[in-house]
Amino acid sequence: MLDLVIKGAMVVDGTGSPGSVIDVGIRGDRIEVVDQAVEAESAETLDASGLVLAPGFIDVHSHDDFHVLIEPEVRHNILQGITTVIVGNCGFGAAGSEAGKIQMKAINEPSVELPDWTGYSGYLDEVEKTSPSLNVAALVGHHTARREAMNGVADRPPTDDELKAMLANVEEGMEAGAVGMSTGLVYEPGRYASTDEVVALGEIVGKYGGVYVSHMRDEGAGLLDSVRETLHIGKASGTPVQISHHKSVGKTNWGMVSQSLEMIEEAVSQGRDVTADQYPYTARSTMLFALVQNGTFNSSEGGAMGKSDPSEVLLCSVPGYDEYEGRTLQSFVEEFDLPGEDAANKLLSEYSDAILVAAFGMDEGDVRMVMAHDSTMIGTDGLDRGSKPHPRAWGTYPRVLGKYVREEGVISLENAIHKMTQMPAEKFDIPNRGLIKEGYFADVVLFDPDSVIDGATYENPRVGPQGMPHVIVNGSFAVKNGEQVGSRTGHAVRKGQI
Ligand SMILES: [Zn+2]
Repeated sequence: MLDLVIKGAMVVDGTGSPGSVIDVGIRGDRIEVVDQAVEAESAETLDASGLVLAPGFIDVHSHDDFHVLIEPEVRHNILQGITTVIVGNCGFGAAGSEAGKIQMKAINEPSVELPDWTGYSGYLDEVEKTSPSLNVAALVGHHTARREAMNGVADRPPTDDELKAMLANVEEGMEAGAVGMSTGLVYEPGRYASTDEVVALGEIVGKYGGVYVSHMRDEGAGLLDSVRETLHIGKASGTPVQISHHKSVGKTNWGMVSQSLEMIEEAVSQGRDVTADQYPYTARSTMLFALVQNGTFNSSEGGAMGKSDPSEVLLCSVPGYDEYEGRTLQSFVEEFDLPGEDAANKLLSEYSDAILVAAFGMDEGDVRMVMAHDSTMIGTDGLDRGSKPHPRAWGTYPRVLGKYVREEGVISLENAIHKMTQMPAEKFDIPNRGLIKEGYFADVVLFDPDSVIDGATYENPRVGPQGMPHVIVNGSFAVKNGEQVGSRTGHAVRKGQI
């Protein structure tokens, strides 16, 4: 007997092929049957006429390494149909746990005390023990490895022994089942690493067949050089490449993504495996400290993170000063009677050094161009911290489906689903997920293609979507009739392991 039969939905299976109205039968944590009309007896039957049934979304660009342990319901993810996250992006990994926790404080102080774990093996064990609402795969973080090996942020190359310790960190992670390694070469301490340092670490990743994932050194005027460096690291280390949140930031750099996309095309034509991810917004979100450090407010071009005017910068999270959240940097420029960078520095030194902001600086045309490209998959890059987080933490997937698929026709529904499911599953070697297929894990999302839309805005960001009534993780409802039902059936996912 089946546990659940979903009848009458338009099944869009993740391959990119057009959908068809067929039934899906689930038993235990697996999809047991996909057929024209499932007649087998079932404990529960769901009439899903008018809805699209797709594989649960795989968020390739998550920063919820700690969130899945602190608040394992991960409401912001699960309501928008995410059933697997790949954490450890932009260089910020989870192991060693001490280095990871120090980094996490730069983003935001965790509200609860977390245990220590040993290596990525220990981290993934902790995830499994916690059993969050969704599945979790991990990248090894370069910052974390470097911080731990070099005893904090070091503005110099590693010694031989320090490099050895970093190599051991990466090797432990890959051995434990990490799906690759990420860098964040614009942030501390990754910004102090040479290309060769990253290649050396990448060789370990390549040996295990993992992916090299990079928040590149420069997404402003230096974007193309950064893409060149990233492609070089992939080639020299023998790793497939994933360019994180592909974009060009700062008005003077708009349109440059057409050239970076061409560079990807050229690499692909040479047989290389090069892809990217994207969140569907024109504001980025990062640490205020990093914007200052990269010259966002003090030069005409704005440095490696591009230019943003203080009026385009919203404070998302200011630990200890909630009342400042949602205000623009411009309002502090006026209150303090200081230029943008000085006002930012005053906030950082006198209020909190862990301020997160959303900063406009991208072109909507660029967002569409990147999304429509074959190399692009979807990721949230979300951080559900503070009272005014960037809305991508809650709205990314329904926004793509509502705004970019239905309203604007930038990509087809089948293509969008493919970019959210099979494409990341294959790239990151996550077996038996990312498709609606017999024998696959029953990670399923059901939404109304005529009404699905994000509810999260910059003013009111902690809001789930509309038109996405059901989400199933490993065969159990995580969301039913639009309500999170509290089941926590996620697993730690180790590279290549079922
Ligand atoms: Zn990043």
